[in-house]
Amino acid sequence: MKQEVIAGFLEAMPLPSVLVDQTERFIGANKEGRALLGEQILGRHFATILRQPSMTGAIEKTLADRSSRSARHLSNDGAQDTTYEVSLRYISGIGAVEGGAVLITFSDVTEREQASQMRRDFVANVSHELRTPLTALMGFIETLRGAARDDPNARDRFLTIMEGEASRMNRLVGDLLSLNRVESKERIRPKEELDLGAHLASVLKTVQPLAETAGTSLVFQPPEAPVEIIGDPDQLLQVFINLVENAIKYGGDRVEVTLELLERDISLRAPAVKVQVIDNGPGIDPIHLPRLTERFYRADSHRSREQGGTGLGLAIVKHIVNRHRGKLRVKSDLGQGSCFSVTLPLSQ
Ligand code: ADP
Repeated sequence: MKQEVIAGFLEAMPLPSVLVDQTERFIGANKEGRALLGEQILGRHFATILRQPSMTGAIEKTLADRSSRSARHLSNDGAQDTTYEVSLRYISGIGAVEGGAVLITFSDVTEREQASQMRRDFVANVSHELRTPLTALMGFIETLRGAARDDPNARDRFLTIMEGEASRMNRLVGDLLSLNRVESKERIRPKEELDLGAHLASVLKTVQPLAETAGTSLVFQPPEAPVEIIGDPDQLLQVFINLVENAIKYGGDRVEVTLELLERDISLRAPAVKVQVIDNGPGIDPIHLPRLTERFYRADSHRSREQGGTGLGLAIVKHIVNRHRGKLRVKSDLGQGSCFSVTLPLSQ
């Protein structure tokens, strides 16, 4: 086959593709292949470019036995790792000596691998979070059957603890289902028109009893005129209840909620409304901020568990804010309190 025809075929391949013939040198590469392995690879020995043993071994074997196989190639551009699934197929009748070359195509599977790793981590986390209260429950059941069987005081105390553990499991399952619902709706645009000022006033009413128990004062000045936005009322209720509850749980003795109209938000590039939930608590070490909305990530695990937290609240908040094409921002530092702000596009 003529060199130009081979080059034409390679160029038509949508994936990075290269050819190595029986001289063990690259005899062809498409644009994507050159971008991946280097512009000057033609004529070079494959082992000077593809140094990973799994790759060199696979190419050598395919040149020898001419059968198809696959391998893995890892590349790093200095900033991030990329994983490729590599297919090796032998093509007879091309190339130099004894006619034949290996067509090597690289398919980027990084996202797929990351997604399956995330799924595995998620299942491991959920199992761990459920197992902790479950183990406590089983321990208490055993004690109630044995040592504490005829001790009414111990029985009462243990049953109270068991109730607490069972409600922890219940909250976790509730939050998991909620996350699932929120994720499945993420691509559906909300369509209801609502008055955000009135909505926030009802959020503050809902959390008032919790604030009173915690000795926290809630401050909110509802705007005089309605602030109309398009949203999902139940989901937005969930967002602000979560943020205000967190501020009560982790903050100090004062939580302020503010609502501000922005003529043009920089990142949304549109008129927007910004709601801030500000507390005067111990704040969050900035090293935690980028990961705060990850599922099960806690800045202070001990305090979160003590407060009955599931570690899913901010993950749910982030998904809902994304669905509303909004932005969630967190500003905090140790000793400086925290400010969680949600910016939502205004309906026009
Ligand atoms: P949790 O169920 O643990 O409250 P969230 O996802 O709601 O989970 O929050 C994640 C973590 O962020 C919390 O465990 C806590 O460490 C931290 N956090 C959230 N809000 C605040 C706040 N207002 N002040 C300090 N830390 C906070």
